[in-house]
Amino acid sequence: MLNRQAADLLLELAALLEIKGENPFKIRAYRRAATALEAVEEDIALLAKTGRLQEIEGIGKAINDKIVEYVNTGTISVFERLKAEIPETLLEVTQVPGVGPKLAQRLYYELGVENISDLRTALAAQRIRTLKGLGEKTEAKIATGLALHAENQGRTPLFIASPLAYEVVAFLRRLPSVTHAEVAGSIRRMRETVGDADVVVATDDFAAVARELTQQTLVKHVLAQGDTKVSVILHSGLQLDVRMVAQGAFVSAWHHFTGSKGHHEKLRHLALMRGYSVSEYGLLHKETGRRIEPASEKDLYALLGLPYIPPELREGTSEITAAVADRLPNLVESADIRGDLHVHSNWSDGVVTLAQIAEEAQRRGFEYVGICDHSRSLAIANGLSEQDLMEREKEIAQVNERGEGAILLSGIEVDILTDGSLDFPDAVLARHDIVIASIHSGFQQSREQLMRRMQRAMANPYVHVIGHPTGRMIGRRAAYDVDVEELIRMAKETGTALEINASPYRLDLNDAYAKAAGEAGVLLAINTDAHDLDEFGHLHYGLGVARRAWLQSENIVNCYTLAELRRFLQRKRPGGRVDG
Ligand SMILES: [Zn+2]
Ligand SMILES: [Zn+2]
Repeated sequence: MLNRQAADLLLELAALLEIKGENPFKIRAYRRAATALEAVEEDIALLAKTGRLQEIEGIGKAINDKIVEYVNTGTISVFERLKAEIPETLLEVTQVPGVGPKLAQRLYYELGVENISDLRTALAAQRIRTLKGLGEKTEAKIATGLALHAENQGRTPLFIASPLAYEVVAFLRRLPSVTHAEVAGSIRRMRETVGDADVVVATDDFAAVARELTQQTLVKHVLAQGDTKVSVILHSGLQLDVRMVAQGAFVSAWHHFTGSKGHHEKLRHLALMRGYSVSEYGLLHKETGRRIEPASEKDLYALLGLPYIPPELREGTSEITAAVADRLPNLVESADIRGDLHVHSNWSDGVVTLAQIAEEAQRRGFEYVGICDHSRSLAIANGLSEQDLMEREKEIAQVNERGEGAILLSGIEVDILTDGSLDFPDAVLARHDIVIASIHSGFQQSREQLMRRMQRAMANPYVHVIGHPTGRMIGRRAAYDVDVEELIRMAKETGTALEINASPYRLDLNDAYAKAAGEAGVLLAINTDAHDLDEFGHLHYGLGVARRAWLQSENIVNCYTLAELRRFLQRKRPGGRVDG
């Protein structure tokens, strides 16, 4: 099927049009159409031939014609024309955080910046500040963006890589010669970005698997094809390596390719002391020369006298020591989560109604949901006024009364304003079940200013959680300059929980900070910050962070029953007690 290729082409076309400064509605229409094409299960070539493309939502006459042209000729003439006019390398410039299409356009037409290296040169020569309306601040922002860009070069965010890898695995499992297929590598360990995707397959017909894989529709081209390994590049640009092994070697190979290197080094060291060598082919008992092919990873660890070590812990830090001492954490899992404390409804910038949220939450097995719409200052996100909050309150009560879903908690994601005051007076906050305080402005402030804001917010007796505490966006925006160690200390002192924002663009706190918070005895809340029903699924990524942070259900406030949660929500308030 050509669906994905056509979607990719529409996205590139949209980016080029954006650089040209074309009508934003038109650009958005192309992007929407691309998303729609990816979701369509029927072959678009067939839909084009039978004139049924326009039945797809988001595809009108103009885009229909372009897709038909693509199906018939393999390209779109407007796209070819634009490509002749604008260097393709400019697309990468638009991806640098802090640049974007509009600025890229100016840099191109006014300074001749065609690619990343030109951008670096212009920056070094301080030429960007000579353009009208741009100054040192813009240059500083671009410099940070370039550093971030270099750091993420060749890395793919987990939420993009993971579904693709699992889709390939599902495909492989359907092949008759395949007995097992699993995702390994950093995706299995839930790292926030991955260099490439690793898949391990047990099969008795390597050639057949290789043949089928290289013809799979996700595959853009084949990088290398050997007897036991096939490397391909997917349409998203992600490299995917598939290792083929015989059934008996599957567990050892899966374990081996899950990594990390650090974990394996320490594990091999321990194994040697216990008389074994460990490799991707299995365990070898040194004395007898006997090779053992464990039937599960649990067996593999057991042979070495260890309890099972979950993949998220296999980073070569202290997991082996903890395992030897039988002190591994009992990691939080999805069944432990009883609610989500940070969801936006259509009262602010969410797209679904309160009733829909309650139903969806129940469907996912939740007891409760915190409706934390934005506060009034955040106008771009349709922040609510006091009046709006009172009206929303009535609707929340009605939905709860009907009892057709999870219990809705009336909440606010209140802005921590630039001076550290909150966007609503205490009397308003006090009327709500849950208050999450977040920074959405003044990102450029100094560390002292930012920490003063955080301090004031946490000292407030009605603030339960600090939302997305560092403000970073993966690959797009660096964290604001907060002192996380100090933040953790203040959270502990004031009895405020810190959020693990599960939005895959944020994952904030990240794994290392969440681990430090847990160790300090600070409570965490894994929240999706969902603005739409399918974003409830982001919980998976937040759980990944929590598990990589060695957290257990008792560290997480949304593992509490509703009664326990209510006690937590009362404890900072007048008459409550914060005792850790
Ligand atoms: Zn927010
Ligand atoms: Zn939010």
